[in-house]
Amino acid sequence: MPLVDELPEEGTGGGPLPNLVTITSFDNPMQADILASRLEAEGIEAFVSDAEAVSVNPLWSPAIGGVKVQVREGDARKALEISREKAPPKPEDPEDPRRPCPRCGSRETYKEEISRQFMALSILLLGFPLLFVSEEWKCSKCCRTFK
Ligand SMILES: [Zn+2]
Repeated sequence: MPLVDELPEEGTGGGPLPNLVTITSFDNPMQADILASRLEAEGIEAFVSDAEAVSVNPLWSPAIGGVKVQVREGDARKALEISREKAPPKPEDPEDPRRPCPRCGSRETYKEEISRQFMALSILLLGFPLLFVSEEWKCSKCCRTFK
């Protein structure tokens, strides 16, 4: 009776898998992605694990230890330093056309469409459109109008 004494070959010749160490974990996959991209910007290959499971059901996050950010063993020290650095403050979105309210600082403001009405009125009253370029903004929190 032949004995099965041959061990299955390890891998498929792709070299040993990198030794990954978990440097930190997050409850939120987005935060893990942000850190991973910061690490990659520093030339450290980062792996985010369990992101799919948490995305499917955030309630699983504590059960599986959150979303882990892993790096190769040799990069761990540097990666830890980077992960402890404070994330740079998010610059204000230059694409955001809304202006902050001068009274309460809220960005819940909108441009009032008075110029268009004024133009229509000027056609009625004067017979030609008066181009009113002045902008008026209104805060939807404290109702202050400002320019
Ligand atoms: Zn306001």
